[in-house]
Amino acid sequence: MANCAIVGINWGDEGKGRMVDLLTQDYDIVVRFQGGGNAGHTVVNEKGKFALHLLPSGIFRDSVVNILGNGVALDPENLWTEIQTVTDKGVAVTPRNLKISERASLLLPWHRQLDGLEEARLADKKYGSTKQGIAPFYSDKYQKKTILAGELFYPEELRQHLADICEWKNLTLSKVYGAEPVTMDMLEAWLSEACEKIKPYVCDTTLFLKEAAETGKSILFEAQLGSLRDLDYGIYPYTTSSNTLAAYAPIGSGLPSAKIDSVVGVVKAYSTCVGEGPFVCEMEGKEAEALREAGGEYGAKTGRPRRVGPFDAVATRYGVEVQGATEIALTKLDVLSYMEKIPVCIRYEIDGKPCDRFPFPVLLAKAKPVIEYFDGWHRDISGCRTWEELPAEARAYVDYIEQAAGCRITYVSVGPERDSIIIRK
Ligand code: GDP
Repeated sequence: MANCAIVGINWGDEGKGRMVDLLTQDYDIVVRFQGGGNAGHTVVNEKGKFALHLLPSGIFRDSVVNILGNGVALDPENLWTEIQTVTDKGVAVTPRNLKISERASLLLPWHRQLDGLEEARLADKKYGSTKQGIAPFYSDKYQKKTILAGELFYPEELRQHLADICEWKNLTLSKVYGAEPVTMDMLEAWLSEACEKIKPYVCDTTLFLKEAAETGKSILFEAQLGSLRDLDYGIYPYTTSSNTLAAYAPIGSGLPSAKIDSVVGVVKAYSTCVGEGPFVCEMEGKEAEALREAGGEYGAKTGRPRRVGPFDAVATRYGVEVQGATEIALTKLDVLSYMEKIPVCIRYEIDGKPCDRFPFPVLLAKAKPVIEYFDGWHRDISGCRTWEELPAEARAYVDYIEQAAGCRITYVSVGPERDSIIIRK
């Protein structure tokens, strides 16, 4: 069967977890290929409500094998806490249904500490990091100063490797930030606690995926965050430190030869953005508060209020382009039911000139949104299950987004529950 990637088209929090949870019924394997525990995928199903951070959203389906690929930032402590949280709610997590790539790098105890120290140093120029250690982790990975999960099976070599990295890292901790150095005793405790717990899940996932692909198994690649947070194509430097694009999925998953047959781009019916950085269509004041409340727009990881705005045609079209989306899942349409008139950002203006193409990051600070209004539908649509049941105004709004994004909308989500979905195939 064909492979699929589910990716975010905008700034993240589009509802990817909800779509993966729905679509995993058709797949054998779900792989997280980038990012770490810095985001939250919220899933509501018959087992309860869950905020997943690192675990793939296929963990709720008994028949699905979930993989944490080599591209993720593997935080053993947080992963273990997350495994316990879902296990406590009756979801089985075993080495059979969760496999961690032996080539995934470990997020080390100093990464979260460094994230906090650097944000504190930046003060009012901070990036708005979730302080999960993601930026220091990826910097160190590219400097070749991390430990691979598979090294846990070679204790002698591991201790020497860890001691060498620790000596190097302590220079930064003490000389740059004036912090206490990390000792080998601290690292021993970390190894024997968190690392020992996740060790049974670590294996050669590239071999597993190769054999699965050869026997016709289907793979779903689950991305974290969205196009505009991609390290190379996003709103740099207000991006994340990994690649959130579908194109990275084969490399970060552990099956570099994988072909991706369809890319489902998840788009929210309005815009949200967590943290700092340019957000051209941002709403302010009471209008923003009303939308934030209606959509429950508070970070799944941090509880931070999300910045909100109308649907942004310029950013979404760009997101679709860089993701290579072959179809769109539009989420949270039901949230807009309270609005009299629904604003949309149809284009930007920069120095008085119209701008339809997402600009180079530096220019975003000068961009102004051009807003138009659609008629609202003023009624609850969360019970709609077919396209025809949607009010004409809601259909007109979805049609506009489809045309503005330049990509077919095949799913319209009208609630967080698994079955609150309209399928337009
Ligand atoms: P993700 O990181 O892309 O998975 O998105 P988040 O989980 O951070 O945010 C999406 C939020 O919206 C979650 O709380 C979901 O339960 C919720 N959600 C997803 N789809 C819908 C929808 O169609 N309607 C409503 N009302 N909520 C939704």
